[in-house]
Amino acid sequence: MTSDFITRLPKAELHLHLEGSVDALTLSQLSQKHHTPFPWASNRYKPLADSHRPLTVAECAALYHYKDFTGFLMAFKGVTERVRDPEDYELITYRLMEKLAAEGCRHAEVFVSVGVIFWRGQEFDALFEGLERGRLRGEKDFGLSLLWIFDAVRHFGPEEGEKVLAKALELRARQGKHPSIVGIGIGGDERIAPPETFTNIYARARKAGLRLSVHAGESAGPQSITGALDALKAERLGHALTAAQDDELLARLVREQVPLELCLTSNVRTGCCPRIEDHPLRRYFEAGALVTLNTDDPEMFETTLVGEYKIAQDVFAFSQDELQRLAANSFRASWLPEERKRELLNLL
Ligand SMILES: [Zn+2]
Repeated sequence: MTSDFITRLPKAELHLHLEGSVDALTLSQLSQKHHTPFPWASNRYKPLADSHRPLTVAECAALYHYKDFTGFLMAFKGVTERVRDPEDYELITYRLMEKLAAEGCRHAEVFVSVGVIFWRGQEFDALFEGLERGRLRGEKDFGLSLLWIFDAVRHFGPEEGEKVLAKALELRARQGKHPSIVGIGIGGDERIAPPETFTNIYARARKAGLRLSVHAGESAGPQSITGALDALKAERLGHALTAAQDDELLARLVREQVPLELCLTSNVRTGCCPRIEDHPLRRYFEAGALVTLNTDDPEMFETTLVGEYKIAQDVFAFSQDELQRLAANSFRASWLPEERKRELLNLL
């Protein structure tokens, strides 16, 4: 079986951070463009010492060779400091969509780290216009759809999260019948900020009709997943890796058919999962959980959506039939209107 089958398989990507999709070439180009010190350093924001240094493609690639979760967060920061103006956001959105379409991806729900943008003291409205220009051009040129999830970045705390929610609601209110802003999320360091910290924000988001994704059980234990479900009423869980440590919790995820946004390569690269063979993908799937495969930060983890399905095939012996079920799950777990979901499922 070749990866042709996987490439042709229509599928959706549901856990992908825009800033983690910037390839080394693009990052190098952006670093050449922005050769002034980081302009928005508010008192609380400490830019990296070399945030304005032009980087070669090789140096950009080297930035992605970190050793642990903290190193990964630093690499993420190195990228966000070089994506600065509306044109940058337009460019990285468009390039992402081009790559996804080439992999058979028909729909993507993409996190944008609005929390980081506020934290560094920058306005978001103009940047969002850039994002939307990139999205609309990408949809037209490459034929896939894309929706935004505003990520509050949990280690900045709930007050910052409030600002992200308020901006999501404000911009969404201007979007008419089919808003591209679909939900909110909390990525970042789970060990510092447990889900319960964000209870009020999630309750308000839910009431306003936003969909709820929560990174849970990535670098923290199963209690973080339980908290995401009970306190935040999460509709989708990012990673859910540590549900494997708690049989009762896994049974609950199966019973309630909570969609799980699994990110295999990511979990190994951040050190959250020691070896790829140790990942509970097969176990979750056999148990009947609603699992989907995703890249998280494809360029930073040197993976692709096709690559993630290939791991399922090569490491976990997923048959073509089973890969197809994973693809179907990705459409089912998406936040598209029912009618569009059915259209996409019919492609399978
Ligand atoms: Zn993530």
